[in-house]
Amino acid sequence: MQQCLSCGGTYSASSLDGVSYFHACPPLSAPEIRKAIAANASPLTPAQQQQLATLDALPAPVVVPEPFVPPGDLYLAQLGLPRPNARDENIDPAKVAALRDRTTGNLPTTLAPDALAKSPGLGVKTVAVVGV
Ligand SMILES: [Zn+2]
Repeated sequence: MQQCLSCGGTYSASSLDGVSYFHACPPLSAPEIRKAIAANASPLTPAQQQQLATLDALPAPVVVPEPFVPPGDLYLAQLGLPRPNARDENIDPAKVAALRDRTTGNLPTTLAPDALAKSPGLGVKTVAVVGV
């Protein structure tokens, strides 16, 4: 298993049936955005901050539905704010074109692990498999 150092997600580079997996970090979650706001590093625009303040000021529902997600958290989750230093292992066609041999059309036989990735992010580390 590998752990993404950008988002903390753990994954295997391939599934049990051998299909390759290319990790791409998810957007920031509502709790992550609220944590950043609390640390004075808000990723929100002033208009988004105003919208969040409006939603957070709504009165609590009289009958709380199950499961209840505060309107402000729903708003933050649907923003899809990109994660700083997001990792995206999907192949970047521009990098493939740049590394391709102009005569043979072949790629180099040895490449750095993230040489063709859209973005290496903060990298990965190998972690032990737990609970399998
Ligand atoms: Zn990630």
